[in-house]
Amino acid sequence: MAKIVVIGSGVAGLIAAAEASRHHEVILVTKANLAESNTHYAQGGIAAVVSTDDTIAEHVADTMFAGAGMCWEPAVEVLCAEGPGRINDLVNFGVEFDRTGADFAMGLEAAHSHARILHAGGDATGAVTSNALVETVRRTATEIREYTFVADIVVDNNHVTGVQVLDADGMQFIAADAVILASGGAGQLYRHTTNPAVTTGDGVAAAFRAGAELADVEFYQFHPTALAVPGSFLISEAVRGEGAVLIDANGERFMQKIHPLAELAPRDVVARGIQRTMIEQGGQPVLLDATALGSDFLAQRFPSITKACRSYGLNWGRDPIPVTPAAHYWMGGIATDTFGRTSIPGLYAVGEVACTGAHGANRLASNSLLESIVFAHRAVRALGEQWPEDAPSVRWANAAPLAELELLEPDHTTTAQVVDRVELQTLMWDNVGLARTKSELESALTQLHSWRPADPAHRLFPDWEDANLLLLARTVTEAALAREESRGGHYRLDFPDTDPAKARPITLVRKA
Ligand SMILES: Cc1cc2nc3c(=O)[nH]c(=O)nc-3n(C[C@H](O)[C@H](O)[C@H](O)COP(=O)(O)OP(=O)(O)OC[C@H]3O[C@@H](n4cnc5c(N)ncnc54)[C@H](O)[C@@H]3O)c2cc1C
Repeated sequence: MAKIVVIGSGVAGLIAAAEASRHHEVILVTKANLAESNTHYAQGGIAAVVSTDDTIAEHVADTMFAGAGMCWEPAVEVLCAEGPGRINDLVNFGVEFDRTGADFAMGLEAAHSHARILHAGGDATGAVTSNALVETVRRTATEIREYTFVADIVVDNNHVTGVQVLDADGMQFIAADAVILASGGAGQLYRHTTNPAVTTGDGVAAAFRAGAELADVEFYQFHPTALAVPGSFLISEAVRGEGAVLIDANGERFMQKIHPLAELAPRDVVARGIQRTMIEQGGQPVLLDATALGSDFLAQRFPSITKACRSYGLNWGRDPIPVTPAAHYWMGGIATDTFGRTSIPGLYAVGEVACTGAHGANRLASNSLLESIVFAHRAVRALGEQWPEDAPSVRWANAAPLAELELLEPDHTTTAQVVDRVELQTLMWDNVGLARTKSELESALTQLHSWRPADPAHRLFPDWEDANLLLLARTVTEAALAREESRGGHYRLDFPDTDPAKARPITLVRKA
């Protein structure tokens, strides 16, 4: 029986813990309570081919198309082919998907050629999934450590030996035969994000410090429609899938002029369309008009959004609601092969923390919960197997990366100012956000270099998070500077075209 440490309790960590507990000793470490994660807030659903008029090949094709030439096809094939089996597992874990009669009720979302989005509790797919898995893991894991912060990953002799964790008793070491990192994304890099406070990219930063290779970090997906109120509550893509339209301050639809798929164009196109319209109308948010769907339908199909609108004094069955883009999903992360294996033997990365290559430059809506489930399951299947020497570089065996960046730890002895999170988030939003330029990226880097993290000896959870955000902000900015083209979730105003010769990943490692 091996000792496996799973980090994070979103869907990826919960699936990994539940599956690994069948054969191993499992310690699940999570920095808040077990139910807190991005997963918990997921609304629209999980994409998978479960109806007879849909095919795996079409799901693959839609995913590849959205990924803007950057998807790694073997990962996409695994994602789509293993999806139906993993949906079956979720049902067995007690997830009750919405149904029409005996069949799953299927939603349509942007850039999907079929209605293939399974949902639960109307628009509460994440919460329903998380609740069922939390219950399972409470029964099956050997030990659960909530409110325990993973600070660093410990590597000895080119193999993971465990993790350094911080809790109320201070810093401790937990030994492990293997570590499954499932600590999610880094929405908190940006001033406006749909992500909850726990998404500070700690796992990516810790893996990077430990020497793991990152990839595709310049690709950040901005969701087109967050409610234009503090907290940026997400208005799911599924609302547009059901027929809601975007209108400008004059009440005119504008997406039809920008893309043939109009409101259902890929996310980056819609997000930039909204941003451009907002600039044209002096920064005023655009409006999402769902009134044609009727109050009764909206309340029944989207109960959480209806409740959120009401809490801000909005009646979306009667009036169009103000929306704006917000940072939503990080396509980049720790580079892995199709079994979640990173460049450090014994360290697996699954879910949003990982970059499997399945999303390419732009994630297809509702493919991220699916990716978390599929690859968490595969990582557990691979436990105990020989670590392949080519993980994860198997991905670029046929075409070398566009750039292999090595980041030097800055010399902080001369930097006085400890990083302030709001200032960092504002800088990232303004200079490294939806539309980027060389000069803004360079100026962001200069500013980032002028900040230092708090002294490691005296760090509490938020200080570790700020240190991690500072490190990751540098990686995103460096990669965004190196990619002199526009593609998916990376748009350069000074290089607005996509260059087919650049459809290769940018990788990053820490310079020793
Ligand atoms: C509002 C919203 C709606 C979404 N809707 C959809 C949707 O409909 N369909 C879809 O496919 N995707 C959706 N997504 C994206 C999707 O929810 C995430 O990509 C997915 O849930 C990621 O799962 P995960 O397990 O990798 O990470 P998370 O669910 O983010 O879990 C990460 C876990 O790691 C823990 N953690 C983090 N750092 C540390 C640390 N240092 N030490 C210990 N623990 C740590 C966190 O506390 C958390 O428990 C949505 C996201 C948001 C924010």
